[in-house]
Amino acid sequence: MSTQAAAAPVPAPAPPAAARATGLSKVYGEGETRVVALDSVSVEFGRGRFTAIMGPSGSGKSTLMHCMAGLDSVSAGSARIGDTELSGLSDRRLTRLRRDSVGFVFQAFNLLPTLTALENITLPLAIAGRRPDREWLDTVVTTVGLSGRLGHRPAQLSGGQQQRVAVARALVTRPEIVFADEPTGNLDSRSGAEVLGFLRYSVRELGQTVVMVTHDPVAAAYADRVVFLTDGRVTDELHAPTADTVLHRMRLLGTGSPVTAG
Ligand code: ADP
Repeated sequence: MSTQAAAAPVPAPAPPAAARATGLSKVYGEGETRVVALDSVSVEFGRGRFTAIMGPSGSGKSTLMHCMAGLDSVSAGSARIGDTELSGLSDRRLTRLRRDSVGFVFQAFNLLPTLTALENITLPLAIAGRRPDREWLDTVVTTVGLSGRLGHRPAQLSGGQQQRVAVARALVTRPEIVFADEPTGNLDSRSGAEVLGFLRYSVRELGQTVVMVTHDPVAAAYADRVVFLTDGRVTDELHAPTADTVLHRMRLLGTGSPVTAG
């Protein structure tokens, strides 16, 4: 018989965050034009999670996303992607980090009109001088339902299809984190639901990490968690949201009327 005591169960460590803000402040202008856009924000974006950021206009949502994505500098505190602290990185390293570790989806799609859907999707790889991983490319293209449209140019695609190209482009490099800024803002509700479904699938089934800014409680309900900003501060958060619980929380926080609620 073994004399060794059974090892005590070790709790599984929390997975490291894909991105993290700590005491992050961002001030624009000075003197009379000074605006505190972010006021000591601390928030983590868990790996393999879908987080929505909500809050009224001017509450700092875009600023937080831009600071976390290395598109804007921080005034104080820290913004990290994985283990990398963004402040203090040279422009070259910041550009490389954005290229390799961050995917973007914008409200206005931002596709190149002269390139086909496939060329748009693989553009981040072409810029990085990387060959596409065929299997992953196929997964991404199939996930967003574009297999039959890869030779089309953006003008030959509907808004929903263009945004699906943009989602595929954001995923193609298997980034550490995808930031989506009002990705359904220009779409009808059916196309919007498709795009949100693909973002959620990329998190649940493909293990990606997505952070999405939205005004829409229905869109936020696709996320695992909602972080609420008010006047540049994190004022609340909600887990496993539904459109109703988000709407209710928005009313409690007095964060204004949502654009759509149904
Ligand atoms: P949201 O995305 O929630 O609408 P923003 O992050 O765009 O909010 O803005 C937060 C605050 O910072 C607002 O008061 C806005 O006017 C201000 N702000 C944002 N960008 C700039 C900038 N480039 N220069 C000056 N003020 C800015």
